[in-house]
Amino acid sequence: KEFDNIDLHSSLKKYFGFSQFKGLQEEVIKNVLRQNNTFVIMPTGGGKSLCYQLPALMQEGTAIIVSPLIALMKNQVDAIRGISSENGIAHVLNSSLNKGEIKQVKQDITDGVTKLLYVAPESLTKEENVEFLRSVTVSFVAVDEAHCISEWGHDFRPEYRNLKSIVERLGDNIPIIGLTATATPKVQEDIIKNLGIGGAKLFKASFNRPNLFYEVRTKTENIEADLIRFVKQNSGKSGIIYCLSRKKVEELAQVLQVNGVSAVPYHAGFDAKTRSKYQDMFLMEDVDVVVATIAFGMGIDKPDVRFVIHHDIPKSIESYYQETGRAGRDGGEGHCLAYYSYKDIEKLEKFMSGKPVAEQEIGNALLQEVVAYAETSMSRRKFMLHYFGEEFDDVNGDGAEMDDNTRNPKEKEEAKEDVIK
Ligand code: ADP
Ligand code: MG
Repeated sequence: KEFDNIDLHSSLKKYFGFSQFKGLQEEVIKNVLRQNNTFVIMPTGGGKSLCYQLPALMQEGTAIIVSPLIALMKNQVDAIRGISSENGIAHVLNSSLNKGEIKQVKQDITDGVTKLLYVAPESLTKEENVEFLRSVTVSFVAVDEAHCISEWGHDFRPEYRNLKSIVERLGDNIPIIGLTATATPKVQEDIIKNLGIGGAKLFKASFNRPNLFYEVRTKTENIEADLIRFVKQNSGKSGIIYCLSRKKVEELAQVLQVNGVSAVPYHAGFDAKTRSKYQDMFLMEDVDVVVATIAFGMGIDKPDVRFVIHHDIPKSIESYYQETGRAGRDGGEGHCLAYYSYKDIEKLEKFMSGKPVAEQEIGNALLQEVVAYAETSMSRRKFMLHYFGEEFDDVNGDGAEMDDNTRNPKEKEEAKEDVIK
């Protein structure tokens, strides 16, 4: 069954109210509608959800969406229900439903009302659910956050490894769509292998963020003074400062306050009420700065964050990209500053020493990339994009001048020494 561009655009408008596709969405959606396996790699905020939502709404049968986060599934289901008069158009199937609710979900699917069924991987593996889903029409299976399949990703979930064999039981040739914001070649390989989508067409968006400026400073005992100076030079602007420990978060927030910077701390050790209070103060601009552990940021959408500082170096390039990615969402200035000392690397290594050997090996390999990033004298942007398997043209590329090394190249001799080291 063919479809034309008019169909696609009018469906986009009808269901989502958008008049244009973003980036590669249209090409992805066409590929999905052609019943092909599809692999989508786009940075966070790139618009991956629409790549399965729209074709699901346009096709016969029910699309199964595998996602690891119950809260995110609920948000998506609510949003989809908002565009339809039919409440059953989207459902979540999970262990929190009672018997009556499960019956309703199954009825809606059987009646052809449900276009999107969100499931956590552990629910999909349940025998009774497999048996039921075998008996209905499944349009395709979308595996969101597909990096969860890989130990090289930042959120490995063993249940993701079973997905392929389950999809095979649901019917013949059910198309699979894998989606992730993790672009490292190792993770990609794992996804393709484990989902068995070797022939899938790959759609990969650029991870370049031209408006972000990347800088690394050597961490010395004067870090606090340096940091305060930076924040004061940027007073009135919103910024996030990431620290490794909760203790450091609280200390640093206090030091900033004492020095006249409006700042709040944020970490998972505060109760929910306190956390949401501090988060709101930052979002509402009652304060300029939030000092936080990595617990802060997931799903936070503040478009005008002007700087992201890492007081402590992160454990992977991947995390660094995600965390700095919260700066300059509006396309305006975003300064990403990381403080680096090899001592911190050793600290992170020590943290891992209690873990299983395989995990340690992966952790150390990721950490060595961070060291290389911090110590490089080449364009940081080029380095980071290369890590994501992307070649960046550092003469004509978008954002080519936007890092410390490019703006102030080290003296030749010094750079040569770096190479020898
Ligand atoms: P991802 O999963 O890639 O992180 P999302 O699917 O959550 O991204 O989408 C990010 C944002 O982009 C959402 O607010 C979504 O509504 C918006 N969006 C997606 N597609 C379009 C579009 N074609 N036009 C305008 N906004 C879009
Ligand atoms: Mg998403």
